[in-house]
Amino acid sequence: MSTAEPLVGGRKTPADLLLRDVHVLDPRTGIDARHDVRVLDGKVVELAEPGSLQGAGGGEGTGEDELVDGAGRLRLLPAFFDPHVHLRTPGQEHKEDLDSGTRAAAAGGFGAVIAMPNTDPVLDSAPLLRSLRDAAARETCIPVGFLPAITRGLAGEQLSEMAELRREGALGFTDDGKPVTSAGMLRKALQYQRLCGGVLALHEEDPTLSRGGSMHEGAVSAALGLSGIPTIAESTMVARDAALAGYEDGRVHFQHLSCAASVDAVADAKARGWRVSAEVCPHHLLLTDEDVRGMNTSMKMHPPLATEADRMALIEGLRNGTIDCVATDHAPHARNEKEVPFEQAPMGSTGLETAFAALYTGLVLTGLIDLSLLVERMTGGAKLFELPTPTIALDAPANLTLVDLDAIWVAGEHGWESRSENCCFAGREIQGRVLMTIAAGAIAHRDRTLSLVGA
Ligand SMILES: [Zn+2]
Ligand SMILES: [Zn+2]
Repeated sequence: MSTAEPLVGGRKTPADLLLRDVHVLDPRTGIDARHDVRVLDGKVVELAEPGSLQGAGGGEGTGEDELVDGAGRLRLLPAFFDPHVHLRTPGQEHKEDLDSGTRAAAAGGFGAVIAMPNTDPVLDSAPLLRSLRDAAARETCIPVGFLPAITRGLAGEQLSEMAELRREGALGFTDDGKPVTSAGMLRKALQYQRLCGGVLALHEEDPTLSRGGSMHEGAVSAALGLSGIPTIAESTMVARDAALAGYEDGRVHFQHLSCAASVDAVADAKARGWRVSAEVCPHHLLLTDEDVRGMNTSMKMHPPLATEADRMALIEGLRNGTIDCVATDHAPHARNEKEVPFEQAPMGSTGLETAFAALYTGLVLTGLIDLSLLVERMTGGAKLFELPTPTIALDAPANLTLVDLDAIWVAGEHGWESRSENCCFAGREIQGRVLMTIAAGAIAHRDRTLSLVGA
């Protein structure tokens, strides 16, 4: 149904480089070994025994633009895919823009992202989608896809022109930032979906239960005297919308799951054969409401950080596939917007630049999941939006992330690519650093610590 290219933008110069003796890990193709990898004209053209490939012309540094020596230690992974970011454009460029947001993504190893429509104005019309895609084609350093609004102005009252938006390249639709409160409205959207396709991505929250709360409702909110949001504000809506999707044979994707009861609701829906998928954010996998005790406003997000039992259920859901993928919900806010009392601060944390290292440190190094599963889940979002899964294969456009798993760094110590610094992991020591990202065949990021051999 969609006639426009689903993703737009990214750097245009095809990469030519030789990655010598890197440990290639691609869980889907089953590669887990040291190789020399040659990228020519933006495509992976050779995977060979380590140390066997020479620069073009036979001498180091001749031919290829760059020669990277992995010394058998650096890992080459398929570039990550983030189905949930806020690029704040148009209208809130003081928080983020297409350039800074995609630079942040590339610095985190992401080869493509999907942007949310809660901008100013809201992305809910074909002319706006067209102009935003034109801007993205010029200004982004990795490809970007867009999810326009399900309802006009995110007001929940009238559907957007879903069919027209699909023809202009909408990957699907979401009212993210807000739930589709009316079951009847979501049902109508599911009926239109039958005609025009496109996944409906859902921010699940019953506003009559969340009631403007600032954090998870529990012992910590009681101790801090903050108004709480109960987990049922999310889980009852997940269950409702899964049932609606099942009834209409529609396709829905649950955004940022935050609690055990929601994981159960998704597992139940999948067991019934309903066409649902789900994502989880690094902060919900790694932090709990205990981290809110310091009243750091970067710990204030929607949905809120819940309990340790919820966190463990999310990790188990990610491990067993109930949760399909990781998404950052990268939500930049300006410093002056976050430097206010906790109750008044806007919801959200940035997350693109820390996602991999934070999850590697908190889940892989602790033995909760293994690296290949993390890579699978950090690339799993593409397929959910009917896009090709990033993979390391010959003659495919290079979508690659080079990481140093031994590098230990303090999040934010050298600033951020993002225009905003409201990162819930800021100041933490984390392990695993993205050294280079190649997105759709072009080098999108080089870490300043990456030493190149030759030139
Ligand atoms: Zn949301
Ligand atoms: Zn969001």
